[in-house]
Amino acid sequence: MGTLAVGGFVPFTTVDFPGRHAAVVFCRGCPWRCGYCHNAHLQGPDSDLDSGPDWTAVLALLEKRRGLLEGVVFSGGEPLLQPALPEAVARVRGLGYAVGLHTGGSDPEAFRRVLPDLAWVGFDVKAPWERYDALTGAPGSGKAARRSLEHLLAEGIPFQVRTTVDPTFLQEPDLQRMRAALTELGIRDWTLQPARPIPARP
Ligand code: SF4
Repeated sequence: MGTLAVGGFVPFTTVDFPGRHAAVVFCRGCPWRCGYCHNAHLQGPDSDLDSGPDWTAVLALLEKRRGLLEGVVFSGGEPLLQPALPEAVARVRGLGYAVGLHTGGSDPEAFRRVLPDLAWVGFDVKAPWERYDALTGAPGSGKAARRSLEHLLAEGIPFQVRTTVDPTFLQEPDLQRMRAALTELGIRDWTLQPARPIPARP
């Protein structure tokens, strides 16, 4: 399984895991290549591995902070890409934390396996299912995301569905199709967030 490849660690947040004081573990690697990505430095699984925090060190820190934090959120990148995710989630749960996950649902089977250990999921719906591939550059990504969302609904745990709206890609008819698709699945709460401009690199 290897070890979790960590790209960053935020020791305290009140906004990334609703209702809980939490830490965020950013996982390396993403199979998708969305044009508006702000974590492009995390897309490759091995890039700059030496400069990221070590998972063992993160676990030691989490152990020290027991009682001060209530939850830990795995974010990315795309955490589902990492074979070490289930074990990492289990370790964090073993320390007494509730575990949250930010995901786009790129791997429905990996998602289904880890779902029973999660207390909350922030699920990114990126586009109408049939337009996913044009955004992510990954064939079959819309089908995978839809299947993952179905797993999430079947699990019955709290979640938030959100969409980053890049007006150069998503137009009003897309949003209408997405609303219809989510309504069909029984999802009424849907959070839209504007894509932030990507800062120019020096
Ligand atoms: S899924 Fe998320 S991390 Fe991956 S490329 Fe898209 S925005 Fe970036």
